[in-house]
Amino acid sequence: MISFNVPPVTGKEIIYMQDAISRNKICGDGYYTKLCNKWIEDTTGIAKALLTTSCTHATELAAILCDIKPGDEVIMPSYTFVSTADAFVLRGAKVVFVDIRPDTMNIDEKLIENAITDKTVAIVPVHYAGVSCEMDTIMEIAGKYNLKVVEDAAQGVMSKYKGKSLGTIGDYGCYSFHETKNYSMGEGGAILIRDAKDSDRAEIVREKGTDRSRFLRGQVDKYTWVAAGSSYLPSDLNAAYLYAQLEVAQQVFDDRMNSWNKYNEAFKYLKDKGVIETPFVPEECEHNAHMYYIKLDNIEERTKFINYMKENDILTVFHYIPLHSAPAGREYGVFAGEDKYTTKESERIVRLPLYYNMGETVDEVISKVYKYFE
Ligand SMILES: *Cc1c(COP(=O)(O)O)cnc(C)c1O
Repeated sequence: MISFNVPPVTGKEIIYMQDAISRNKICGDGYYTKLCNKWIEDTTGIAKALLTTSCTHATELAAILCDIKPGDEVIMPSYTFVSTADAFVLRGAKVVFVDIRPDTMNIDEKLIENAITDKTVAIVPVHYAGVSCEMDTIMEIAGKYNLKVVEDAAQGVMSKYKGKSLGTIGDYGCYSFHETKNYSMGEGGAILIRDAKDSDRAEIVREKGTDRSRFLRGQVDKYTWVAAGSSYLPSDLNAAYLYAQLEVAQQVFDDRMNSWNKYNEAFKYLKDKGVIETPFVPEECEHNAHMYYIKLDNIEERTKFINYMKENDILTVFHYIPLHSAPAGREYGVFAGEDKYTTKESERIVRLPLYYNMGETVDEVISKVYKYFE
């Protein structure tokens, strides 16, 4: 059976976890957490990066930093993972869903302005498949209406928009290091904080509302409870696992890109014949080969395709039942404008196996896809 995903392992994970154990420090903010934070800061140029227990938690932290209150409205696509909405709904916000663009599956930047009301507080662009949203337009709208921007860059580690790393453009950026993402620590994530003035508060909320981070830096004599907070810091064991991968991030990137390009070149023929659609990457975007998907004509075609692949021992998956059509989405959200593409395009998409070190497995998948369309 060819799996849809295999969690990345690059070789030094066990060595670094063993080292974390011998340092007698496996709680949060140990040696490896600091190395990971620094790696993110150095690689992306962000003022401050902090590892978190997940991207969901990074987004929750961002929602707290945005001072989201009950009744506030937050704009996001409906075609996304539940966490994007959960983080804001937990703070009492109403979610306002905006349609996606069919080419990138990202929020349609041209429809955002129409969804803004006097209750709108934030825009949450989701960089689907590690391909950036149209950030210049989004930042311009946010500036005009004085809105916060929280980038859901869960899939966007090592991706860029006009040369800028995803997650560094909005007020806050959220990364995921879940086992299905390009770089992993099992469960984990990071928050990126653009303005240095926000980083003290972020550290405090992440550390149970205490100024422990300042204490550890010797800036205060003892640490105490200074604000409402939670515990969003991962164990240093998980950070050690992640650091092994971040250290060779380019190697993982190149390997995935190689598989992605193989798919894309192989399917050009089917695309040109109008049999399938393949991913579109705008010129100003550098993606990270997080995902390879194809689009079939409709949901019936897709079901047939997935079943055929499964019978041939290849797991392909679809995802994102649009949030506005889910029970919680109906309760906490509203779709602004017309759902022209969200539902229709979500029913056409199917993701092919893509993971680090796939090797020749890519060719097996390609030949089975061709068999199906024969
Ligand atoms: C994976 C993912 C998340 C959630 O990440 P976790 O680290 O599992 O919390 C959120 N948003 C998007 C778009 C994702 O792909």
